[in-house]
Amino acid sequence: MALLQISEPAASPVPHERRLAVGIDLGTTNSLVATVRNGIPVVLPDDQGRPLLPSIVRYRDEARGVDVGYAAEALQARDPQNTIVSVKRFMGRGLADFTDDRRFPYRFIDEPGMVRLATRAGIKSPVEVSAEILRALSVRATLSLGGELAGVVVTVPAYFDDAQRQATKDAAKLAGLNVLRLLNEPTAAAIAYGLDNAAEGTYAVYDLGGGTFDISILTLSRGVFEVLATNGDSALGGDDFDHRVYCWMIETAGIAPHSAEDTRLLMLKAREAKENLTLHPNATIVATLSTGDRVDLTLTADTFTAITRTLVAKTLTPLKRALRDAQLTPFDIKGVVMVGGATRMPQIQKAVGEFFGQPPLTNLDPDQVVALGAAIQANVLAGNRSPGEDWLLLDVIPLSLGLETMGGLVEKVVPRNSTIPVARSQEFTTFKDGQTAMAIHVVQGEREKVPDCRSLARFELRGIPPMVAGAARIRVTFQVDADGLLAVSAREETSGIEAAVTVKPSYGLSDSDIAGMLQDSFTHAANDMVARALAEAQVEADMLVAATRAALTADNDLLSDEERAAIVKAMDAVVAAREGSDQRAISAGTKALNQVTGDFAARRMDRGVARALTGRRVDALT
Ligand code: ADP
Ligand code: MG
Repeated sequence: MALLQISEPAASPVPHERRLAVGIDLGTTNSLVATVRNGIPVVLPDDQGRPLLPSIVRYRDEARGVDVGYAAEALQARDPQNTIVSVKRFMGRGLADFTDDRRFPYRFIDEPGMVRLATRAGIKSPVEVSAEILRALSVRATLSLGGELAGVVVTVPAYFDDAQRQATKDAAKLAGLNVLRLLNEPTAAAIAYGLDNAAEGTYAVYDLGGGTFDISILTLSRGVFEVLATNGDSALGGDDFDHRVYCWMIETAGIAPHSAEDTRLLMLKAREAKENLTLHPNATIVATLSTGDRVDLTLTADTFTAITRTLVAKTLTPLKRALRDAQLTPFDIKGVVMVGGATRMPQIQKAVGEFFGQPPLTNLDPDQVVALGAAIQANVLAGNRSPGEDWLLLDVIPLSLGLETMGGLVEKVVPRNSTIPVARSQEFTTFKDGQTAMAIHVVQGEREKVPDCRSLARFELRGIPPMVAGAARIRVTFQVDADGLLAVSAREETSGIEAAVTVKPSYGLSDSDIAGMLQDSFTHAANDMVARALAEAQVEADMLVAATRAALTADNDLLSDEERAAIVKAMDAVVAAREGSDQRAISAGTKALNQVTGDFAARRMDRGVARALTGRRVDALT
């Protein structure tokens, strides 16, 4: 989704009254909470001084209760089915969505919309699991800041779709947090580096976390941030480097771990060694397995670089693809922001530096940079602004939103690339006399016909007072909030009856889906226009024929026999043309029928007025 930064005239906060606001990086591997203190963004550590919270939740055996973070991590090997790691991968996703090669030890329950996990504490949705992580961070922040939080900004990957964003928002609500907004992770990192204050230009954000790799290309122009392209690899991260070290250990020491616990121990040792090698030329690895086997090895930085060379190279493919999508070369990039603990590895920094022909930005802690940017944003949104900080970040919607109208056509209500939040209304009317209900079908896409677009939601407006076709005024309002979530409401203006839905699509769209839908709309534009014109002519013909039939029944006596015969003849011609797909023939028939019924309509109108006036005093009418 493209991001826009716009200036917003905001009410200035009451002097000296600061509202507590935090930014939360809800990561796949680790999560953090940060705030702005005395104008400086800082991460809030736990009571033992640790800034990170491993994104791990364990449902305890004792009645109720959970372990979150390091406590859960410690028990992960012993209780894998009830210890949920990497829950972010499941947010807003069905079982069919994550058929990657990683195997998860969980008991999945495939439910429409989002997958669930069967734990000893019952069936848990990814939203509930994430809420535990958010709750732990919220408690940490409340204790550390000494008061209730007014609001939070939670970060999500730039490629997260509506369903994943909605799930993240739901998790925050479940944790009792007031979400000021969701913010894209690369944008948060760019804000932390103050790039929003920097000169205009295009920046790359290289994010290598525990299990995922994301690359985003952002451009800043006239104070506006836009995500030009995203790419990545959802199965590549620091864990893969651990695994390479683990394999090297097993081979070099000539051992074979027989239990899950030994494997886990060796993986931990591998991770420690990897992390040590970012600052030291060697790492010693010492461990005793349950079999009594001892491991005592020294891994040099050179060996580590050699055994992980292909992993480093693997990140360059998505990088190239993202640049290609943005139609840029590495030399167009003004700065490269490093995000994610795994970018501490010197071989990564070297490869990225060589690729872009400039050293990447590494002076902020890559673990913390996203949370710090989110904290800055939260501080602004909570109203704790200082002069020159009066801006907000806004997204644009990637595909048009509209309604199905008669003939299976799409009426676009909110056009693509509108900046959000946005609200748009349009009036619709009934198709038949006495129609008391209206089916509202919300669709997304650029094409003219409903089957070529994506269906988002359906609902009905019932209780419309019976009126002649076209008399009811139904105002349909589309509202897209700052997080890109859509609410649609319909209101019949004379009676005030209303119906509404909040659109929570069970599956969102990936960037490539969006690109495909746009491409389709260009390819089919000409055909679509013809199809639309035909469908419109058919709808018009149907309406006119229905109205004429009704009029003939109601006011037959106003017509002479010849007049009646002429009308019936014209009507039959329209019905016959309507069967075919010649739009011109249908339109010509409709026009002829309109002409031949002109006088009849005028006479009916006079009679209607006369009826309405009968028995009423003149002064009551003025
Ligand atoms: P995520 O965004 O997925 O939550 P993080 O940004 O917290 O992940 O990154 C976690 C990864 O960073 C882990 O694989 C961890 O081992 C790695 N990491 C952390 N510190 C270092 C370090 N000093 N050297 C190498 N890798 C590190
Ligand atoms: Mg991260």
